[in-house]
Amino acid sequence: MKTRGYAALQSKAPLTDFEFERRPIGDRDVGFDIKFSGICHSDIHQAREEWGPALFPMVPGHEIVGIVTVIGTKVSKFKVGDRIGVGVFIDSCKECRNCKRGMEHFCSEGMTATYNSLERDGKTVAFGGYSNYFVVDERYAVKVSENLDFAGSAPLLCAGITLYSPIRHWEVKKDSRVGVMGLGGLGHMGVKFASALGAEVTVFSHSASKAADAKRLGASNFVDISSDWPKMHRKGFDLILNTVSAELDLEPYLQALDTDGTLVIIGLPGKPYAINAGTMLEGRRSISGSMIGGMAELQEMMDFCAEKNIVSDVEIVQPNQINRAYERTIKSDVKYRFVIDASGF
Ligand code: NAP
Ligand code: ZN
Repeated sequence: MKTRGYAALQSKAPLTDFEFERRPIGDRDVGFDIKFSGICHSDIHQAREEWGPALFPMVPGHEIVGIVTVIGTKVSKFKVGDRIGVGVFIDSCKECRNCKRGMEHFCSEGMTATYNSLERDGKTVAFGGYSNYFVVDERYAVKVSENLDFAGSAPLLCAGITLYSPIRHWEVKKDSRVGVMGLGGLGHMGVKFASALGAEVTVFSHSASKAADAKRLGASNFVDISSDWPKMHRKGFDLILNTVSAELDLEPYLQALDTDGTLVIIGLPGKPYAINAGTMLEGRRSISGSMIGGMAELQEMMDFCAEKNIVSDVEIVQPNQINRAYERTIKSDVKYRFVIDASGF
């Protein structure tokens, strides 16, 4: 089906109008009209090839919500008119150990990303959510509650699950001492989830103007990282979630971990980090990473959000404002996620 969207025609080029075809509906496919599509910093990294060579033209977007318009003959999870969401991947091998235990995002054969990837036939380029229509195998889509603000629910599909998953994995609970580095799209979801679970949340930010917002979103403390904070916060945290999109020195954050504490790498600036062995040994500290979440956990998070009425704080933009939104995201000037109104495509 003819689809209109926005694409980067080459690396670092501004995004522009783009028309393409979506595949016809297969037995297990769901077709839907996209209503909102979030702008993730990963879209910017990829459109600018900050993670290495990418596929162009690129239609970014992996925080997608819409309304089902057509279903295949074997679809059981959705009916026409339902709210639906698609996140960072649209396929996986379905056979490997990770796929079988609901960790499709860690598929041994590699997940098929929603864009900037080839589908499993090895030749069809996947185009993402900056568009007005989508087709997906129902296994790789989730139900979105009618009770949630629809625009605010789009960022749950990436920013939301990416923070929910480590917060659950490291068993954040009442009185856990959690640090969130960077109050952007991902970070603000981390503050909402960790505080909803009763944790004491501290935001580490290089934007002093975000202090009041951090508290409003649920944080107890705000640290301006240009201050002399490391002495005050040494050994003060059980878990620190690093959502920063830029390179930075991890050493003071590792020193801020208490015994058996973990620093989780989530932001992906693209360059390697230096780690001081002495800091890791002392206090048996850990450093780990976390990447989105599997389909079962994605649905669990959507349901958790519906129960607690959690959505992202969004600024809605029209397609012709995408390039400006990219510039503002790079300047950390977004409160706290740009979401594209897909009716403008
Ligand atoms: P974002 O909205 O731009 O937020 C990033 C935040 O990092 C900014 O708001 C800012 O927070 C902080 N920051 C930016 N530049 C900084 C600098 N020079 N020094 C210190 N802090 C700085 O981006 P996002 O969409 O949340 O994504 C964050 C990162 O996670 C990106 O690298 C993205 O690719 C990655 N990501 C990873 C996964 C995963 O599965 N692991 C999934 C999605 C995205 P303050 O203003 O508060 O300092
Ligand atoms: Zn993302």
